[in-house]
Amino acid sequence: MSQLSTPEFIWTNGGVRPWNDARVHVWTEVVLRAASVFEGLRGYWVPEESRHYFVHLEEHARRLRESAKVTRIPTELTADDLHKALSELVLALGYREDVYCRPTLYLEKGRYTTATSASDTGFFMPVFQSPREKSIDTGLTTQISSWRRSGDDTAPPRVKAAANYYNLRLARLEAEANGFDEAILLNGAGKVAETGGASVFLVRQGRVITPKLSDSILESITRQSTIDLLREEVKVEVREVDRTELYLADEVFLTGTLCEITPVVSVDRFEIGSGQPGPLTRRVQEAYYATCRSGVGDEHGWLTAGPVLA
Ligand code: PMP
Repeated sequence: MSQLSTPEFIWTNGGVRPWNDARVHVWTEVVLRAASVFEGLRGYWVPEESRHYFVHLEEHARRLRESAKVTRIPTELTADDLHKALSELVLALGYREDVYCRPTLYLEKGRYTTATSASDTGFFMPVFQSPREKSIDTGLTTQISSWRRSGDDTAPPRVKAAANYYNLRLARLEAEANGFDEAILLNGAGKVAETGGASVFLVRQGRVITPKLSDSILESITRQSTIDLLREEVKVEVREVDRTELYLADEVFLTGTLCEITPVVSVDRFEIGSGQPGPLTRRVQEAYYATCRSGVGDEHGWLTAGPVLA
């Protein structure tokens, strides 16, 4: 991922504040036991309209509430609240380019320690500039991680909790240490799950295949959008995927808010297809970007308009 520069402002404590004013004490649940849940969503800059369009804002707000529910972090945050906060921050920052937004709910105290039974939920949200990654064009090398993806009975992947990223961090760091760009994790049953930040798709003999939601993956919003786009053209199988199916695939690609549609050019040093991003991957990328950048012309109902920047 590109190095993101520190923004001047952040949304915290009910409004836009200087970046350095967003603080928590070290003796809080979020620091001690990673009690937080978060979302990552994008705003695509549409220059003709001088505004951003946020992708799947409603779905991200819903998943944030669902993650909070399972982890018992009290919140009443709605999609409208999120839109209002985003609009205020985007106006203050004035970035005339694509952005990545990371709304986060966290516990200052409560629900775990014996010291207190009351919960005290905090909310913060940074918005970063988010230039296009080189790997969108060149693709990534990957390895199957020796770390397994946590399961619904341990640290449920359906929930986007900061604590889950400890599992994914181990896999990422192992891949990096071994000279790969990214790790693909298997689940407890030894089937393909996902990477530390994206869903996995493969194309084999004209069929597109992706793991099921109950295969220890995040209920990814981009995964569903990609399935919808693909089904306009090909059949998509949603089922358990074996590791060796990846080795034998004609194309493999990853989908996620941050990585968008990123080609995979090798798995465990097995070249995928010709070792270059494949034709279907390229077509899905085009279709995905066309929708994300369609602004007022959005035909899929994915987009919510941000404020017009002067
Ligand atoms: N899996 C994991 C573990 C992730 O962190 C992400 C990024 N949120 C994804 C998949 C992709 O999810 P989405 O398409 O909703 O961004």
